[in-house]
Amino acid sequence: MKLIIIGGGIAGLSAAYYASKHLPGAQITLLEAGDRWGGKIATERVPWEGGQFVIEGGPDTFLATKPWGVRLCRELGLEDRLHGTSKGKSGLAPRTYVLHKGRLEPLPDGLAMMLPGKVLPMLQTRLLTWPQKLRMGLDFVLPPSQNDEDETLGAFISRRLGRAAYENLIEPLMSGIYAGDGDQLSLLSTFPYLRDLERQYRSLARGAMTMYRQRVARGKATQGSRSAFLTPTTGLAEIVEALVAHLEGQGVNLRLRAAAQDVTRTAAGWQVRLADGETLTAEALILATPAWVSAALLRGVDADLAAALGRIPYVSTATVTLAYRLGDVPRPLDGYGYVIPRREGRRALACTWTSTKFPHRAPEGYALLRVFIGRAGQHLSLIHI
Ligand SMILES: Cc1cc2nc3c(=O)[nH]c(=O)nc-3n(C[C@H](O)[C@H](O)[C@H](O)COP(=O)(O)OP(=O)(O)OC[C@H]3O[C@@H](n4cnc5c(N)ncnc54)[C@H](O)[C@@H]3O)c2cc1C
Repeated sequence: MKLIIIGGGIAGLSAAYYASKHLPGAQITLLEAGDRWGGKIATERVPWEGGQFVIEGGPDTFLATKPWGVRLCRELGLEDRLHGTSKGKSGLAPRTYVLHKGRLEPLPDGLAMMLPGKVLPMLQTRLLTWPQKLRMGLDFVLPPSQNDEDETLGAFISRRLGRAAYENLIEPLMSGIYAGDGDQLSLLSTFPYLRDLERQYRSLARGAMTMYRQRVARGKATQGSRSAFLTPTTGLAEIVEALVAHLEGQGVNLRLRAAAQDVTRTAAGWQVRLADGETLTAEALILATPAWVSAALLRGVDADLAAALGRIPYVSTATVTLAYRLGDVPRPLDGYGYVIPRREGRRALACTWTSTKFPHRAPEGYALLRVFIGRAGQHLSLIHI
């Protein structure tokens, strides 16, 4: 059997890995338009004064709660190289800040899945005024919506906790994950568990407080266990490098600078034409390309599917990594960094203090910071860096 996979990011590489594992004897070809593997995973290792900076251009961790990433690392022999985020000197996870009216304010302690899981820190936070806190408290008495229709994340949180809680607390945290506009993002596609919490506990805060207590109890029972976010010692590229080495060993045909131009159906399967005119055929095809690329490739195969894929909006973002001598940084980097609510009107949406999160990613005596720029409604072409 011949299989062609288009796209050499983590999705295409893992598809090739599992195909080579489960389809013995299959002839597998992986096509990548660019001149390197990994797609959005882009790790640079910069030697410096006997140590090195590990700079992630794209993702820097994956969620431990989703088991497939850990399982893949285990199969590739990388499990012992996986690190969680640093707990800091106190043994407690360092705080995260929010830029609020130009100042860094700590996120209230006790957030559970973005929601307030403890009352006292919410009463003490300077991110909300007293009337805004009182509005949040209405969540305990407001009846849950019986409507099964989807709604936007912004509308849902504003309905339960008030608009200020959405703008000052939830929106910046959500932006750190999706870089999207919460007033457009579907609740059911992004955070479906929030609707479940509303239904189950008749209040988001009550649900979050229960989850927070369960998490603390679990944490006490499994002290020293792994963090929620994992990454190999010298960056996510380790997974890409291990996959490429494994696939080469399995005889998978790995082709860089091989952009698929179009795809057609044939009686025997599929025909893929490359940008240089070469044509390949296969019985099976996997597209692991961004939705707009898949839309263009499938236009002649299934117009409806291509149109649906073409409607998926994307946003351009950039990351800028900065390194300083620690002595030149004017404040202690006592946290994982800060998020910036949309209403602050800044070009950046977050700044991660990488050398606090992963101390081994900067040489001794240096700070490494990563700034995220660009989000929905604030495309890079519109902001002048
Ligand atoms: C700044 C940033 C930070 C992120 N942080 C995290 C994080 O911490 N944790 C997390 O889990 N996720 C994170 N993400 C999301 C994560 O990076 C992506 O979901 C994931 O890498 C996507 O992988 P993919 O293989 O689906 O797509 P891609 O990585 O986009 O790979 C698609 C590949 O297809 C190739 N291609 C395109 N057109 C063609 C063609 N015509 N022919 C052949 N090849 C083609 C491209 O060159 C590319 O290599 C982050 C994303 C960004 C941008």
